[in-house]
Amino acid sequence: MFLKRFLLLSFVLLSLCAQENPEIIQPASREEGLKDIGRYVELFASRNALVSLSSLDYIRYFGKDALPFLLQGLKHSDSQVRCFSAIALSRIPDKSSIAPLIALISEPGTMNLQVLSDDGQKIHPAYDMSFKNAVQDNALRSLQSITGLSFGPIGEESKYKEIAQKWQEWWAKDGKSFVLPQKIELSNLLPEEAKYPIPDYAVYLKDVRICLDPGHGGESEKVGYKRGPSGNQEAESNLRLGRYLRDFLKKCGAIPLMTRDSDRFVSLKDRTQVANLHGANLFVSIHHNWTYRYTAQATTIWYHKTPDYKPAAMDMARYIFQEFTSKVPMRELDASMGLKSDTLIYQIGFGVLRDLSPEIPGVLCELAFFSNLETELKMRDPEFLKQEAYGVFLGLARYLYAGIPSYKIIEPKENIISCSQPEFKIQLSDGLEERTGWDKQAKVFARQMVVELDGKPVSYQYNPATSTLEFMPSSPLSQGEHSIQIFFMNLNKNHNWGKIYRFSIQEKEKK
Ligand SMILES: [Zn+2]
Repeated sequence: MFLKRFLLLSFVLLSLCAQENPEIIQPASREEGLKDIGRYVELFASRNALVSLSSLDYIRYFGKDALPFLLQGLKHSDSQVRCFSAIALSRIPDKSSIAPLIALISEPGTMNLQVLSDDGQKIHPAYDMSFKNAVQDNALRSLQSITGLSFGPIGEESKYKEIAQKWQEWWAKDGKSFVLPQKIELSNLLPEEAKYPIPDYAVYLKDVRICLDPGHGGESEKVGYKRGPSGNQEAESNLRLGRYLRDFLKKCGAIPLMTRDSDRFVSLKDRTQVANLHGANLFVSIHHNWTYRYTAQATTIWYHKTPDYKPAAMDMARYIFQEFTSKVPMRELDASMGLKSDTLIYQIGFGVLRDLSPEIPGVLCELAFFSNLETELKMRDPEFLKQEAYGVFLGLARYLYAGIPSYKIIEPKENIISCSQPEFKIQLSDGLEERTGWDKQAKVFARQMVVELDGKPVSYQYNPATSTLEFMPSSPLSQGEHSIQIFFMNLNKNHNWGKIYRFSIQEKEKK
């Protein structure tokens, strides 16, 4: 008895220590994402114009948070970084940029745009041009765009000294009182809300903890590593998509957790630990695919092992596939409807799905092929990645809209049981009762329920009137730990998440 108490006490102490252990892997913080902005400014210097230009297009995503990094970029030793920083500042108009941009008018700097690979090979004919005075020209363009003022033409090098002086005089005189003009959007693009409407049914995402795992990262220095034909990195597309997806989820009150929010290496184990240790309900790993067949264009959602392993993961996978392909249609029809087992690639399956807690449905999405040049070029466009993220988001929203069934053991009330052949009574919920108000009966497929005691199916009685299930072990259970797991689905064919109920049989000591 003493030994038992001692063991219990040490267990409690140990688990308390574990909770305070700083080694526990944390989800990506806001600071990580903010620090990462500096990397996009550095990417302006890329000798692959497709990389620097897509970085320029993307940095606007960070809004005013990008300003300090861009202002720093105006002083960069590389003229291309100075030039692109000036352009980026015109897209995030702010008064703090005016003086540093004026200082740049007197600074000549040429820019050469080419599409070169990591090792200097020319890989795409998209750009091959040189812009003399690019820094000065773009500083002026940016100033005109931000202030709505002009003190002379752009492109006439001989007049730049005079123009720079006029800007300086104006700023010294009127700078303090100057108010930025209201921007009129001369764009035919629809506003964000019209392009990506949040459907009413997304309300059921509220408070759901979703772990988003942008695949790869931190391996940019490896020449050609997971890059498409024009040098686009898969890790980068995954990350950007993950951020857009996080934003959509946040809008509906879901709680997204990111495994990384920068170009950082995270081990497969740590990715699963973020989900396992921080109470994630769902796990979605985000990838783009590669194959030798360069025309491949398809979407695959991968599940672990067999459909039976985690039926709830299959439900989520199906919704993601359907909604994604309706938003981002792929040329190739997948005859098996896009769902594949990870054992087709590795005998033991994918690391991020394998080590995931049994309670968390998880999938790995290979959304599009970056080995296909056509698709890869689209992936540099923030709108395409946002469209992809929107497709996954709608899949998750529809999945939760269909309701998540669950169960609760109502008898015996304690999970330490003194009788070796206890009668169990279990309350089922279809996950939809709370929504209808008047129809409280669980709508479940009663013929397709499975009740497992210690991993083996047992027979049970189901009472549809009370939505309860009863069973008793056919023979007395041994002393010690036991488990119950139930699999069933509601009328929308959504399965319950794989909760395992643990109890122990401890017969009273005889005196
Ligand atoms: Zn990948």
